[in-house]
Amino acid sequence: MTIITDERCTEFCRPGHPERPERIRLTTQKLRSQTELTLKWTSPASVEEASLLRAHSAEHLARLQEPQDFDLDTPYFPEIATFARASVGAALTALKLARAGEPTFSLMRPPGHHATRTRAMGFCYLNNIAIAALEALATGTRQVAVFDFDVHHGNGTEAILLNQTGAVFFSIHQYPCYPGTGLRNLGNNCFNYPVPPETPRLEYRHILSDALQHLQTFKPDVVAVSAGFDCYAHDPLAQETLLPEDFYWMGQSLRGLGVPVFSLLEGGYSNDLPELVLAYLKGIDGK
Ligand SMILES: [Zn+2]
Repeated sequence: MTIITDERCTEFCRPGHPERPERIRLTTQKLRSQTELTLKWTSPASVEEASLLRAHSAEHLARLQEPQDFDLDTPYFPEIATFARASVGAALTALKLARAGEPTFSLMRPPGHHATRTRAMGFCYLNNIAIAALEALATGTRQVAVFDFDVHHGNGTEAILLNQTGAVFFSIHQYPCYPGTGLRNLGNNCFNYPVPPETPRLEYRHILSDALQHLQTFKPDVVAVSAGFDCYAHDPLAQETLLPEDFYWMGQSLRGLGVPVFSLLEGGYSNDLPELVLAYLKGIDGK
């Protein structure tokens, strides 16, 4: 199991914002101090412009350089374009390692699944997972599946991958909740599983399980996971019910697919994030 991270991803913050550097700092500490998993650590690769432009417009890339907030949730930071690119670099490194048979987790920020082709939103600037999925297709993968278990709908990933040959997208998310999309399936390849707030955890697991079975019918060569830990019972930004053992189960279920899997950190805002990530990684690793 390889963890991809980089100190750059803790170098920007706005006081009081839930998407904060401690998420990564504390998770890194937890993973470095635990002894149950044997982890390798690596840094993100650099990113070619062409990889970004498969998912985003040139105007969007230029906008990231302009010192003006994108919306109330999504502040401008000096060098945010550089930080966002590092997060993309980690996603591409994760893809590469997964294809070589190495399970991988990108422990980076900013997250990406709300960023659309033309817009930064919901704490996201560049859509890491969509860029990685399109990179996979451009470099020989026949079928890539994106599995998004963040509690919020992966609207940006959906918008970018909609009707993309070779890609399928699955999002399991609380509805109603931010960003208000994801109630129905879209196009021929985007499948949404809206879950009411406070759905009992075993029922939630059942829905995740249904989505995974559906995903398997597409026989993906690689599965890219938008791993958001905000469906946790004590997350401050949503009202779902999952416990650490459910993230372990999630990891185990993904491992059980028997195809290369890589995961990128999306949301997860409770102070228990480190424990949730560790539980998930244990499941992926088969411990
Ligand atoms: Zn989220």
